[in-house]
Amino acid sequence: MCGIIGYIGEENAVYFLLKGLKNLEYRGYDSAGIAVLSDVIKWKKVAGRVEELCSRVNPREMSGRIGIAHTRWATHGAVTERNAHPHFDCTFSIAVVHNGIIENHRHLKEILREKGHKFSSDTDSEVIAHLIEDALLLNRDFVSACMHAFSSLEGSFAAIVMKEGEHKIVGVRKDSPLVIGVSARGIFLASDIPSFLEWTNRVIYLHNYDMVVVDADPAPDACGDVRNVRDMCDVRDVNNHCGASHCGALSALTEKHASIRIYNLNEGLVQRPVDSVEVDIEQAKKGEFRHFMLKEITEQADTIKKAIQQDEETVKNVIDAIKNAFGIFFIGCGSSYHACLAGSYLFSRIAKTHVNAVLASEFENYEHFLTDKTLVFAVSQSGETADVLDAVRVARDRGSRVISIVNMMGCSLTRESDECLLMNAGPEICVLSTKTYTSQVTLMAMLAYALAGNYDDFVSEVKRLYLDIYNLTSRTMRERLCEVAKMLADKEHIYLIGRGLQYATALEAALKIKEVSYIHAEAFAGGELKHGPLALIDKGTPCIVFVSKDNASKIISNAEEVRARGGYIIGISSVNYDFDCWIKVPDSDMLNPVVQIIPVQILAYQLALLRGLDPDKPRNLAKSVTVT
Ligand code: GLU
Repeated sequence: MCGIIGYIGEENAVYFLLKGLKNLEYRGYDSAGIAVLSDVIKWKKVAGRVEELCSRVNPREMSGRIGIAHTRWATHGAVTERNAHPHFDCTFSIAVVHNGIIENHRHLKEILREKGHKFSSDTDSEVIAHLIEDALLLNRDFVSACMHAFSSLEGSFAAIVMKEGEHKIVGVRKDSPLVIGVSARGIFLASDIPSFLEWTNRVIYLHNYDMVVVDADPAPDACGDVRNVRDMCDVRDVNNHCGASHCGALSALTEKHASIRIYNLNEGLVQRPVDSVEVDIEQAKKGEFRHFMLKEITEQADTIKKAIQQDEETVKNVIDAIKNAFGIFFIGCGSSYHACLAGSYLFSRIAKTHVNAVLASEFENYEHFLTDKTLVFAVSQSGETADVLDAVRVARDRGSRVISIVNMMGCSLTRESDECLLMNAGPEICVLSTKTYTSQVTLMAMLAYALAGNYDDFVSEVKRLYLDIYNLTSRTMRERLCEVAKMLADKEHIYLIGRGLQYATALEAALKIKEVSYIHAEAFAGGELKHGPLALIDKGTPCIVFVSKDNASKIISNAEEVRARGGYIIGISSVNYDFDCWIKVPDSDMLNPVVQIIPVQILAYQLALLRGLDPDKPRNLAKSVTVT
């Protein structure tokens, strides 16, 4: 959540930073800011959108080849201009942008205040600038002052700092993402790759506790063997570090003269390879679509195909791991958790294998059941979800095996897993998960079928789906769902019911509606209605019912119970069971969770538009939730 970006090169940093911030917007934020260094540091902040920041920055007044910028998702301190990043030391000559939470900020602030430091914001982040200032007073140089300051932080952080008089930026990461982008136009440090993808696909992934120094004036240093970055990019992995055996540091010199050195706060100088990412830049653009949400919904016929294009050896290893496990958990948050729940039903029904689906944030309560025989599937689109990473660490401490299901290679989760399955869905820019949810469910169905020895049946079943999904996302379907949305746009509450696999779909569908339209939407297992929720039903209360042919009779009885109390029934099924409103969806048996969610994704999108909301940027939400 939120995003940081830093740039150092020969061109005006303002252009790259503002463009980079726009590319980071999808992660969710409430305020934004930028600082650029020439002789002095100049900055601008807004408690609002990046557009507003852009309109307040005059590149003639504010220019420099080094800069940092931030989109904030407030955790400590109200959403105000004063609390927006960058933050500064007492003399306003050190600037910092930070993503995450400094858990020991109160203690650090107390010590710093006693030493006379004056704070200008209510954030936890500001302590970083003052800690560096404090370390500099002890005659440390800037880099070692940063190292000293970063070593005293607890919590999760990705931060970038710069200082007047220093032609460098220094970044650090622990439990929050930070990657380096290497381009001929400059070096980037950023929370994610899409932020700089239009300038480079050459990236260096940083590990926890890595601190990177990007220096525009690379003084002859300990390495002495600083090579051209182009050579470095062309010769991958093995040759991209300093050849000097005493050092082993990754060193680089761009044509524009900036070196990169990486230190790990625990290990000293380290090597990190340069990778190239194979992301099509067009995929990260809206193209003909008004919103990423709709674009990503319509991509699903393709993305489910891509989800099953897995490396055979990896799938075999995963299946062996499942067979040898004693106790299997699927863990995730939000939509990924709903995919886990659908996955647990799929494993039960297809492979007769018991799986516990658990919310990642609740997983620690199961700690005592974890052994070295336990297998944990950790599911996260970004692979940076803090709750999932925490849960994985709990599992690893107990010696359990971890398999991750992620969309972004190189993310923290892949590094903390024994095996990794990629969703292959391409960048998902809208804050809401749509295509990655159906990819996750498809992958889980694939594993269940493979476990049951019916992988080929599964592939033919998925192939049958392409056309169905194409039709479900067609213009005709969208227009039909727009009519349904018009009936619902003014409602205060929408209820959704399902049983079995359809219960997982109902939960996910409710989440889509509330995230993007802010209408209260709540899902129940059909059988639970009579145990309480029926009291909520009044004349005209809308209730969406998900029906699969194999369990139609029970859920239809539940729908009748709602109708008998005045409810308005919207059915999503292949057959019209006398619904008040019917959305026809082909019956796809075990893959119903994939097809039945699509009309509600579109419905939620239409509801947002009708209510004048931006579907790509729901309030208060962030794409990649990197705080616990
Ligand atoms: N904790 C910091 C703040 O509240 C950073 C939040 C973020 O990640 O944007 O300002």
